[in-house]
Amino acid sequence: AVQHDGGNAVCFYTPEMAAAATRRMLLTMHLTHAIERNEMHLVYQPIVDKTGRVVSAEALLRWTHHSLGPVSPGEFIPVAEESGLIVPITDWVLSTAIGQMARWEIEDVLPERVFLNISGQQFLRGNLTVRLTELLADCPALRSRLGLEITEQAAVRDLKVAVRTLGELSALGIQTAIDDFGSGYSSLSYVQQLPVAKLKIDRAFVIDVPENPKSNALVRAAVGMAHGLGLTTVAEGVETEEQRDFLISVGCDMMQGYLFGKPMMPDTLADMVRGQRCVVPG
Ligand code: C2E
Ligand code: MG
Ligand code: MG
Ligand code: MG
Repeated sequence: AVQHDGGNAVCFYTPEMAAAATRRMLLTMHLTHAIERNEMHLVYQPIVDKTGRVVSAEALLRWTHHSLGPVSPGEFIPVAEESGLIVPITDWVLSTAIGQMARWEIEDVLPERVFLNISGQQFLRGNLTVRLTELLADCPALRSRLGLEITEQAAVRDLKVAVRTLGELSALGIQTAIDDFGSGYSSLSYVQQLPVAKLKIDRAFVIDVPENPKSNALVRAAVGMAHGLGLTTVAEGVETEEQRDFLISVGCDMMQGYLFGKPMMPDTLADMVRGQRCVVPG
């Protein structure tokens, strides 16, 4: 590794960069076999309304490699995107979650919506609606129970394709949400052009309310703007009662975070849904 101390050197290759590249290569190699070796599973995090009732859930992917241990999606999703492995992985997520939803429906514990994360590359690929139509052919009733989350960066990367795909999904009855809203650099005029139903306010803003007046103003503005555009809002990363109370006071429609439940195994979420059913008196 050649290193210079400032000056006009433009080429750096540090040991840290080498280690990161090695780790990425290792992850890519192991990720190739992750599905066939049954190393992936989905956990589900509850999304609640103002009264604390579970109305929907977000499916989150987990990967546990036998020797590396658990690898976070924050680390392996970018690797999957770079290597193209995101395509079979997304397919596995879609079919696994739809299978789970079908079982939940039979058990009568299916939340109103189950949201899946779709990476930008997969979303812009073009055949997402075709694949979803195939997967939902045997259970068309689940269309209106499915939701997809895409990040604002993905949507604005190719606005034309995004608008078309979002329109196709909505025609199928599948709801869409902008994930991590506020974390990117996109302008509000883009959001206005996207036919989505929900806006998920990024955890980075929620974490500072209600102590930080600037975060409060941003969250209040995001909720107001979303409502003005006819969208509902979900706040991410709600951990305290103070955050919850503030969010309710500014009219945020739904909340998700450790305060209401961490991502959990499917049976645990089913128990939660079952448990909140009102008991009809005798
Ligand atoms: P995301 O879609 O914004 O998901 C929310 C993340 O926040 C999840 O992290 C969740 O566990 C975490 N979280 C929820 N509530 C709280 C809280 O109260 N406090 C804190 N500190 N964190 C909270 P996770 O599961 O590690 O996922 C990270 C990201 O990886 C997701 O962010 C999403 O972008 C991506 N991801 C996860 N599963 C999938 C998947 O199946 N497909 C794709 N393409 N991306 C996925
Ligand atoms: Mg998400
Ligand atoms: Mg999110
Ligand atoms: Mg987020």
